[in-house]
Amino acid sequence: MRKNIVAGNWKMNTSLQEGVQLAKEVNESLKSFKANCDVVIAAPFTHLASINAEIDKNLLGLGAENCADHVSGAYTGEVSAAMVASTGANYVILGHSERRQYYGETSETLKTKIGLALENGLTPIFCIGEVLEQREEGVHFDVVKSQIEDALFELSAEDFGKIILAYEPVWAIGTGKTATDEQAQEMHAFIRRVIADKYGKDVADNTSILYGGSCKPSNAAQLFAKPDVDGGLIGGASLKADSFIDIVKAF
Ligand code: PEP
Repeated sequence: MRKNIVAGNWKMNTSLQEGVQLAKEVNESLKSFKANCDVVIAAPFTHLASINAEIDKNLLGLGAENCADHVSGAYTGEVSAAMVASTGANYVILGHSERRQYYGETSETLKTKIGLALENGLTPIFCIGEVLEQREEGVHFDVVKSQIEDALFELSAEDFGKIILAYEPVWAIGTGKTATDEQAQEMHAFIRRVIADKYGKDVADNTSILYGGSCKPSNAAQLFAKPDVDGGLIGGASLKADSFIDIVKAF
């Protein structure tokens, strides 16, 4: 059966020293109780190897926030999936709305990145979600369906089974405006049907679908109680060990 997962997305925050400290605090807290979900932190590239040396990977997974759409070579400033894997990280966030919006990531580039991540043994946390105007126009289901189809539906069922999805309505990211638990459930159930239509019920039932967008200790339990919400991708509230752990404890 699918896993429940709480994953932090630190974005472009923390110095190396602050990031290592934060990871150590999360790791320490996880020793003090039995989490009822997998816990992952996604950190800046510069932090990965140092964090990897400090955490117990049985308690805490580690991921990057992006990787390149090329294997290697003359791509100044880029970081490949193989480089991410060589730090000890096991996950990579791909298709975050900030990367789609500010760095022009398209389904074509994301398809390549997903392939490279999988080839290098990384588990992609693939983000999808509509912007406010799309929800207001009532096309949010179509938008999310296309994002999934265009980037993922050439994968074999086996490879699709390695992907974690994160539904992140863009209007809820960093805005303090959370989707209601009903809105999250409605979209997650829709996503699971889209997967079932393509890959069958077993694959759909085994896919973890996380919710992201202003998820915090005060609303996490209500969101996670919904049958198709398998955890959260947490931005702002993952930058303090206490609030991140309180979200983990919502399971
Ligand atoms: C995110 O960026 O993935 C996110 C969910 O951010 P926040 O929790 O801050 O809305």
